[in-house]
Amino acid sequence: MTESAPLLLWFREDLRLSDNPALRAALDAGAPIIPVYLHTPETDGRWTGGGASNWWLHHALADLKKQLEQKGSTLILRSGDHPKVLLEQLMTETGASGIHWNRRYLPHQVAIDTKIKADLPAESHRGSMLFEPGALKTKTGNTYKVFTPYYRAMQKLGDPAEPLSVPRSIPAPDAFPTSEDLESWNLLPTIGWDAEFGDHWDPTAAGAADHLNRFLDEAASEYGVDRDFPAKVGTSRLSPYLHFGQISPNTVWHEAQTVHNTEAYTRQLVWRDFARQMLFHYPHTDWEPLQEKYAAFPWETHPEWLEAWQKGQTGYPIVDAGMRELYATGWMHNRVRMIVASFLVKDLLISWREGALWFWDTLMDADLANNSLGWQWAAGCGADAAPYFRIFNPMTQSQKFDGSGAYIRRWVPELRELTDKWIHEPWNAPSPPADYPAPIVDHKEARDLALAALATLKDS
Ligand code: FAD
Repeated sequence: MTESAPLLLWFREDLRLSDNPALRAALDAGAPIIPVYLHTPETDGRWTGGGASNWWLHHALADLKKQLEQKGSTLILRSGDHPKVLLEQLMTETGASGIHWNRRYLPHQVAIDTKIKADLPAESHRGSMLFEPGALKTKTGNTYKVFTPYYRAMQKLGDPAEPLSVPRSIPAPDAFPTSEDLESWNLLPTIGWDAEFGDHWDPTAAGAADHLNRFLDEAASEYGVDRDFPAKVGTSRLSPYLHFGQISPNTVWHEAQTVHNTEAYTRQLVWRDFARQMLFHYPHTDWEPLQEKYAAFPWETHPEWLEAWQKGQTGYPIVDAGMRELYATGWMHNRVRMIVASFLVKDLLISWREGALWFWDTLMDADLANNSLGWQWAAGCGADAAPYFRIFNPMTQSQKFDGSGAYIRRWVPELRELTDKWIHEPWNAPSPPADYPAPIVDHKEARDLALAALATLKDS
């Protein structure tokens, strides 16, 4: 009997075998399957993977390949300028009759996929969102720009789709096409970060399941209370796994329903959807403010302050702790992300774009939709944004959310010996540590300058 033509299964931000609708559709078609991953940094431009997330991608791909091999298949890696060219080559080489993929929702990705779909026999499937953009519209048919009504409308749709199971095996063709070597893509950093990141993360599907199970067993029902305290393990730390699609939001959602009191947590998954639908409908907001008047905001350029912020040397302990945690682990707690972002845009008057770029390079979970929403929120110019005149006081935030200074002591060793009273404002201590910098700006003065800058916007 002659073998039927194979199908290409194109993995993108869905590096998993569980709850994978494209994989299920390819299996249902009954043909041999050729799983592929395409590395095309040129087409992603500014938003090609940053250093930390490339580290994650390398390990996630190695893990996916291993999982596929356990199912009798493999992962074919190809790189080049444009995915369409690579897919055409693969179809010619293998005689494949079609391509299956799960949808992506970011503007440049949608443009690429639309072009490919117009020319090649491709079928797309539900992607890694609870509800796809367009599923929720206001009564007047518009996009929601405020989270709470979006959330309420989503609740009326009922539960998101049940996750699909992992297949027992995946049919292979008589011969697979050649694959490039993952190592040759040079995704791993060259400066010895690999071992350090490995101490903090297990970037595999098993790691995702472990994180989820531990969170559900130990922290999920207290999430609403504990989520704001960076010294506690009060959040799920699933963000990089969700970004790369090693676990689907639907799986997380349905698993969370098995534990009581998890609505505060599942609500955050809806924020993830909300960020995606915002960027889908307002594609310029990865770089331009959603609220147009902010395009004229008088941002300042202070390279030495920017560097002090990046390196965790601002003299504000909670800010420095967050920035050092980020650099060492590729992750930062959400409350601290808000504090450091506010400090950059409001105390230093440096544009949120600089912050977004630094986060892009250093976060394991660097995610264009969540990052753009987070930074525009902090700068006051995005959807559902914090009003510009509400300026976080770094000392008050620190006292409220890290009262005992446990988080600061972990990441800023110079301050370990200070008492709880002085750790939030070491410059006022009877003998400030000599090896820790004085504040680069005075918060009170900086606050007045920020409000004055905002006033120019009102006048204009
Ligand atoms: P949990 O609290 O356990 O939440 C579960 C999941 O819900 C997260 O993994 C994430 O996928 C989603 N989620 C949680 N909070 C948000 C939020 N505010 N917006 C959108 N989705 C959310 N998140 C990223 O994944 N990538 C980014 O690049 C990113 N950049 C940010 C930049 C700034 C300035 C700010 C303020 C926030 C940013 N966030 C980003 C959102 C948030 O900080 C992280 O998703 C969260 O800290 C991840 O930790 P967790 O998995 O323990 O979250």
